[in-house]
Amino acid sequence: MLLLELLRPEPAVRRVPQEPVKGDYNALCQRLACDNAGAHWFNTTNGRYYCSSCARTFNEVLRLQGRPAMCELHLSR
Ligand SMILES: [Zn+2]
Repeated sequence: MLLLELLRPEPAVRRVPQEPVKGDYNALCQRLACDNAGAHWFNTTNGRYYCSSCARTFNEVLRLQGRPAMCELHLSR
């Protein structure tokens, strides 16, 4: 009986389909109104990732206000 217990295969990993997480690296853009994939722009103020379109818009608005950019492109995490 003990031997059979040892020979029992590992339980199968339950695979639950998961929604891509917003704001994670290379996932969906953190911005609520945006669902672009491939978020590679790191927002230094909140530590979340944004798509290039949103990140460039944020940075441009800040630039027009004479303030430093808040999003930087990360090619890897
Ligand atoms: Zn976006």
